[in-house]
Parts: sequence; C-alpha cells; structure tokens
Amino acid sequence: MKVHHLNCATLRTPAGVLVCHCLAVETPAGLLLVDTGLGLEALRLPRARLGASFPLFCRPRLEEAETALRQIERLGFKSADVRHIVLTHLDIDHAGGLSDFPQATVHLLADELAAFQAPALRRERLLYRPLPAARWRTYSPGAADWLGFANACPLEGLPEDILLVPLPGHTRGHAGVAVRCEDGWLLHCGDAYFNRGELDGRLSLLGLYANLVQADHAARLESLRRLRALAARASARLFCSHDPSELKNKA
Ligand SMILES: [Zn+2]
Repeated sequence: MKVHHLNCATLRTPAGVLVCHCLAVETPAGLLLVDTGLGLEALRLPRARLGASFPLFCRPRLEEAETALRQIERLGFKSADVRHIVLTHLDIDHAGGLSDFPQATVHLLADELAAFQAPALRRERLLYRPLPAARWRTYSPGAADWLGFANACPLEGLPEDILLVPLPGHTRGHAGVAVRCEDGWLLHCGDAYFNRGELDGRLSLLGLYANLVQADHAARLESLRRLRALAARASARLFCSHDPSELKNKA
C-alpha cells in the first residue's frame, strides 16, 4: 500500500509551530485517510467550526492548500475516492475535515463517539466541536494482537494491514492507527504524545499542555508507557500528530 504523509493544518502555539500529521493510504479498498486535519469548513466559518478555546492556544494558519481535500486532489484523487477515514479521536484538528468527504465510512472506537455525543468532561465540552453526520463504524477494543498490543481492532472492509490500536487517555476513546507498508509497520499515535522527546521521558511545555487537555491521566500515562516500550523494540515506526520533525522525517 502506498502511504502519503500530509500536514493538514499548521498550528502556531506558544510552545512552537505544530503540524497535523495525517496519512493518505492507497488501499485495495480505495483511498483511506488517517485523520483529516481542520478541513475547508474551518476556513469558511472559523468561529462556528473551531469555537473559542482551540484558536486561542493553537492559532491555526487556516490555509486552503493545507486541507486534506486539496492535498489529495493534488495527488490526482477526488473527494469521492476517499472510501474510508480512520480517526485517532474526534478533536476538531483531527476530525474537522470529515465534512469534505461525505461518502467515506468513518472508523473509530465506540468510546470516542460516545464521549463526543455525550460530553461529560470539561475538555470534551471545550475541544469537541460540532461535526457533520457521518457513516460511523465503531469498534470496542478487540481481540487482535498487534505487536504485543492485545486489544487491537481489525477494520471492516479493510485489509488486515490496517488496525485501530486503543491508546486511551488524551480522550476516552483515543486510538493509534497501525498501517503496514512495504518497509514495515507505521503507528500513527495521534495525540498519545505531542513531541518526540516525550517518548524519551523528556519534559516539555507541550507535555504540560497534554496534562491540561487529557481525559484520563492514568490511562494516558499507561498508553505512553506502552508506546515507549514499543519504540524501544523498534518493531514499528511511531509518529504522533503534531511533531513537525516526525513529519519531516516521515516518522
Ligand atoms: Zn491534536
């Protein structure tokens, strides 16, 4: 499967310039996106789509050329070619582009959709923003083993080379997305960490931000511990959503 690494939004935070690292994957079941960035609607109706809290800290650049839709068009595809979207979680910088791909089936953990539909935590009320109705396909932590992660979920209608890997904590139903390409496994870790240094246990301003916006502290630390162990085994290439150096190096 051919994998394209995309930056689907640039965020100018007080802690530095961040990217929104998404994937476009050419699969036998059609084009698939892992996360969608902000999307065109955020440019047209920024206040309505982004709310007040997210732009305050993240200061998104809002450039049409960075939207997932315009980027896949430059690769020679159109919106309807995107048959599947796999989401790490439903924060607006990951799911905002859903409205640009109305024909896609959207795969995510059931806990994430439940949290989005009935926000109970302060972070959920602040950071989840209205999204269009989508063709949701939800999963409960599964029974598939993926490199020692015992609760991975194979995805309906997709090759076994793509799995959701539950990594809760940042949000209640947060997950990584594993993709096997020609030279081995990639794991898109979403917002399980924000900066590569966190995998080495280094403290950063973004680590503090991660604490502020987490749904479950203990679960987030456990997910991070498991990712550190995986990175140490070097059996997959890990990257998160927002670290520009990982995007530059393509993990
Ligand atoms: Zn994020």
